[in-house]
Amino acid sequence: MTTVQTLSGLAQSGALKGKRVFIRSDLNVPLEQGRITEDTRIRASVPAIRMALEAGASVMVTSHLGRPKEGTVGPDDTLRPVAERLAELLGRPVRLVADWVGGVDLAPGEVVLLENCRCNPGEKKNDPELARRMAALCDVYVNDAFGTAHRAEATTEGIARYAPVACAGPLLEAELTALGRALQSPRRPMVAIVAGSKVSTKLSILQSLAEKVDQLIVGGGIANTFMLAAGLPIGKSLAEPDQVDQAKAVMDAMRARGVEVPIPVDVVVAPAFAADAPATVKDAADVGPDDLILDIGPRTAAALAGQLRKAGTIVWNGPVGVFEFEAFAGGTRAIAQAIAESDGFSIAGGGDTLAAIAKFGIADRVGYISTGGGAFLEFLEGKALPAVAALQARAT
Ligand code: ADP
Ligand code: MG
Repeated sequence: MTTVQTLSGLAQSGALKGKRVFIRSDLNVPLEQGRITEDTRIRASVPAIRMALEAGASVMVTSHLGRPKEGTVGPDDTLRPVAERLAELLGRPVRLVADWVGGVDLAPGEVVLLENCRCNPGEKKNDPELARRMAALCDVYVNDAFGTAHRAEATTEGIARYAPVACAGPLLEAELTALGRALQSPRRPMVAIVAGSKVSTKLSILQSLAEKVDQLIVGGGIANTFMLAAGLPIGKSLAEPDQVDQAKAVMDAMRARGVEVPIPVDVVVAPAFAADAPATVKDAADVGPDDLILDIGPRTAAALAGQLRKAGTIVWNGPVGVFEFEAFAGGTRAIAQAIAESDGFSIAGGGDTLAAIAKFGIADRVGYISTGGGAFLEFLEGKALPAVAALQARAT
């Protein structure tokens, strides 16, 4: 990666002693009736906070939560449950501070959580005035939120321009190192799996990976559109007929490099999209007009698994079937197993992909699991992430 200053570097050099450190974390956890249902992001944010505290800094942490309306903090918008969980994890009190843009009282060595940054007017549109006021709160700005690095907002991009010092936290640093390593000099063959629900949301990643990887595997609703492009029947399956030309272009790009995008030879179909719908394995050519394709079939899964086991580098985004329903989880399970068993270096990212990794228990056998969804995909595409670019611009 192009160099950025790092929190770990500053901590080691003693530069944080007595300083006010502002950390932009990603604490956007799922909540149900004010209760945190999954706290991975909070746990992942703890090392940066600990690092700054142990280096003698006082710490302000903030994050967005959900999609609030700017200008108000509604009952569903508050980071209060996050402050409570963070206090448990740190083993010390974490005061929640509202209305903080104008100034924050901070005792030496204290850690506070600044209320939902997306409630501040100007956050989303990266208002320079807001960014300047936030930068004035601190001596050192730390970005540790890879998941939002592809968005230029006031706490992710603007503030990095104006803070006296701007650096990457350990989580962001780890992401950039691991993903950079996988892409810069990947062990070959490099195989990418791009699956999930829609071609349209992942078209640019399909196009850019088609220029980089040795094999490109599609799955899920995306594979349905590719089946359509290949002239196969798909019944009532989720697909995007208006993306068929784009799918063909991706197939042609791979063909020009001497490989075919594998099209499923068998599929698991059902008459309805439901957990208890009866599942039937069919040859791809035999899909009926009322069928919904909800998973790849066992022969397809075995062939793809064979390809993955021989890969030098694997990039995985998107489940290949409706893995949330047990009857249609077989394809994604087989892919997950093959990734776990491969000697290649694997990287995976995406909200539902992470859920699949957790469901199939392979987390410790994936080379690197990215915390980013959109940011992960944009990094793979080779796009500059605005929040990272802002840190790079400050590194001299
Ligand atoms: P990610 O969050 O990992 O990037 P996506 O959001 O693109 O992945 O897609 C995941 C969703 O796609 C899952 O909820 C899964 O049920 C759905 N999906 C996968 N295959 C199919 C299919 N054949 N038909 C309908 N939905 C599918
Ligand atoms: Mg998703």
